[in-house]
Formats: sequence, C-alpha cells, structure tokens
Amino acid sequence: MSSKIQSIRGMHDILPEQTPHWQFLEDLLRDLVAAYGYREIRMPIVEKTELFRRSIGEVTDIVEKEMYTFEDRNGDSLTLRPEGTAGCVRACLEHGLLHNQQQRLWYLGPMFRHERPQKGRYRQFHQLGVEAFGFAGPDIDAEMIAMTARLWRLLGLNDVRLELNSLGSSEARAAYRAVLVDYFRSHFDALDEESKRRLDSNPLRILDSKNPDLQALIGEAPSLLDHLDDESAEHFAVLRERLDDLGIEYTVNPRLVRGLDYYSRTVFEWITGSLGAQGTICAGGRYDGLIEQLGGKPGTAIGMAIGLERLLALLEAEERLPQTGDCHAYLVMVGEGSERAGAALAERLRDRIRGLRLVCHAGGGGFKAQMKRADRSGADWALILGEDEVAAGTVTLKPLRGQEDEQKTLDEATLTDRLARWVSEEN
Ligand code: ATP
Ligand code: MG
Repeated sequence: MSSKIQSIRGMHDILPEQTPHWQFLEDLLRDLVAAYGYREIRMPIVEKTELFRRSIGEVTDIVEKEMYTFEDRNGDSLTLRPEGTAGCVRACLEHGLLHNQQQRLWYLGPMFRHERPQKGRYRQFHQLGVEAFGFAGPDIDAEMIAMTARLWRLLGLNDVRLELNSLGSSEARAAYRAVLVDYFRSHFDALDEESKRRLDSNPLRILDSKNPDLQALIGEAPSLLDHLDDESAEHFAVLRERLDDLGIEYTVNPRLVRGLDYYSRTVFEWITGSLGAQGTICAGGRYDGLIEQLGGKPGTAIGMAIGLERLLALLEAEERLPQTGDCHAYLVMVGEGSERAGAALAERLRDRIRGLRLVCHAGGGGFKAQMKRADRSGADWALILGEDEVAAGTVTLKPLRGQEDEQKTLDEATLTDRLARWVSEEN
C-alpha cells in the first residue's frame, strides 16, 4: 500500500463539523459590513511578488521571511497573497475606482504566510478585510472602529479591548525615527540580533518586537506620541473624542506600531485575553501613503483585518457558537412502494418549506438500520413512511431529540405545517 499524502503543515482542512460555524460567522460579517455601506470586492489569490515588496515593505516579517513566492512557467515571480490590502489597492487603481471617489470595500478569504505554526498562527488563514478610500478625516476611523465594536456586541464577546495609537505623518515619523535610533544605539548591547539589524533599516519595528528580553528597553523608549505633527495630533484628538461620544473604551498604546510599513496616523488593534499569545483578533489603521506608492494619485485610505481562525477560537472558548447545520428531518422508507412515494413526498416538502434541510435515506436496508442513520444524521425528526402510511397517504413524525414525548401519524398537510413551523422557529 502506498503512503498517504497529508496536508501541508499549517494549512488546515475545515471539516463539515466546523463549516456551520464558519458560515454563521461569515453571514454575520456580511450583514455587518453591509449595514455600514461596504461593498464586496474579490481579488485573485496570487499577485506579482513586486506588489507586496513595494507595499508591505522590504524590511518586514512578511516580506523578509513569510511569503510563499514562486516562479510560474513564464519565469515571473508570483506570491500567494499574505494579506489583502495590497491587492485591493492594486485592483482599485487598475479599474479606476479611486480617482475622485470614495469607496467602502470588503473582502473575505484565505491569506498565506510561512510562519511557525502554533495555536492561532497558521500558514493558510482567513481574514475579513475592510478598506475605505477617499476619506481623510477621523470620522471614518471612528466608524470603522464602531463597526468592530458592534461585531463583538453581536457575538456576545466581552473580553476584547481596543488599543489605539497614532503614527503621525511620514515626516513626523522620520524625525521620531532619528530620536529612536539614538536611544537604541545607546543601548546597543542590550538589543537582539534582529533588532540590531533593524536599527538601520527599520527601527520603529523594534517597538513591535515580541522578544520578552527587550520589553523593558522598549518600555523606556521615547514615545511616538510626543513627536506627532500638529495635524496628526488633531486627527488623533478628534478620533478619541468620537470614540468617547460612541461610548467605545480604549487605551492608548504608544508602542503599537503594527507589523506593516504602509501605516500612517491611526493604528489600532482589538486584543483578547482569552487566547494566550495570539490575542490580536483585529488590526488596522490608516495608510494614506500607499496609493501613491503603488502608482496612483495621492489618496487617503484606512483599513483593517479580522483573523477569522482566532475569532472562531475565541467564540468557541466563550461558548458563543450556535449549534446549527444538522438536518431538520430524515426520511425513513420501508416496505412496498415507500421509496417511490417517499422521493415524491420529499420533493413536495422541499417545494413548500423554504430552508428545510431534509435527508432522504438512500441505499435500502431495514427499519432499524435506517432509524440508526436518522439518529446519527443529527436530525430533529424522523419522517417514517411504511406500507400503512403509503396506503393511507400519511407520514409518521417521530421526535429524535426529546422535543416531544410521542410519535404521531399525520396527513401530509399537517406534517407540512408542523415542519414549516419548526424550521421558521429555528431562524
Ligand atoms: P501577529 O503580530 O499576530 O503576527 P500581524 O500583525 O502579522 O499579527 P496582520 O497582518 O495585521 O497581523 O493581520 C491581521 C489579523 O490577521 C491578525 O490580527 C490576526 O488576527 C490574523 N493573522 C495574522 N497572521 C495570522 C496567522 N499566521 N494565522 C492566523 N491568523 C493570523
Ligand atoms: Mg505576523
């Protein structure tokens, strides 16, 4: 026997037991973003490598070591998208969606990063991405944050907190960068290898280091917020005021710099304490420079991404996932003529009851064996069609989940009513 081929490390199958949870979350997310006027955009999963190099930045974890990059048969360098923003901006520029326009867009799908797999960190994972183009003011920043706050409320999640920072303009950041380099240079020996390397190439990223030995040093570093330009400081102040108006709590974290190069001004993360080290379930910020960097006219932009695996893990931990997806009814057919009558009955029920999930037994077998399958299907009801029922034009309705004491033999119209009510009460 030949050996079994397994899935790639860090890339997981989502099995039928789990897909109802994904569908529940995806449906809720679609309704949420629609409620704020966001429209869906779908981009390819593969883009030119150059796109990510130019947008995310050379000296980032993603570009340095996490991208799935390969040559296609033409010798072009392509990359599986590690995030959606770059492709979204590329698509908008390509189709002229940004010039003198405002856009509220969203997308949902798999992203790929070659990281060390662990709980909450995978090589294929899924994000909901949301991007707003053509809005310069902090009102849209506040709206986007309010949208996520609504999401946690809808999902019944309490243990999520908002951290907020402003990175200022690129000029202000350049000035701050010089101050920061001086500071870290004066503590050069205390830095780890990666930080030493980043001191010249991208010192702000040192603030983002996850090395516990560096946290004290990082904690004492000069604060970005003390070096904001006036306009960014005003933007940040108005954003905070708006969040206060909306009753959204937050803490200002001056070390929050985010992993990607393209951010400016507002950055934020939603973090939960319930998932251990991989606690950030949503991250975003403003990236006003990116459109120009990718060849467009200067334009403003803000976006965020929610990690769906982490959000689902949190929902599971907090027992906020609904039990849905199993079928409502399983049709058991025994005896002369029951299969033919049953097939027609099932079609009529599906015609009449919108949303009904009905499984017809297939493959023959006795009553006992069929009832066993009915039970294992997770159905709430068994519909039993035997010779007597076929002759009388009735169906026996048997509760499988203890929702009623006894089975009842019903005419078809009554059965249809009962099932229709059951289905509509579920929704
Ligand atoms: P981290 O610091 O945890 O590596 P990041 O800054 O790289 O996160 P972003 O690029 O901002 O993450 O992505 C937004 C969200 O996507 C994260 O907050 C997280 O919820 C999710 N995410 C990122 N990388 C992964 C991954 N490898 N596996 C699962 N989810 C991820
Ligand atoms: Mg990362």
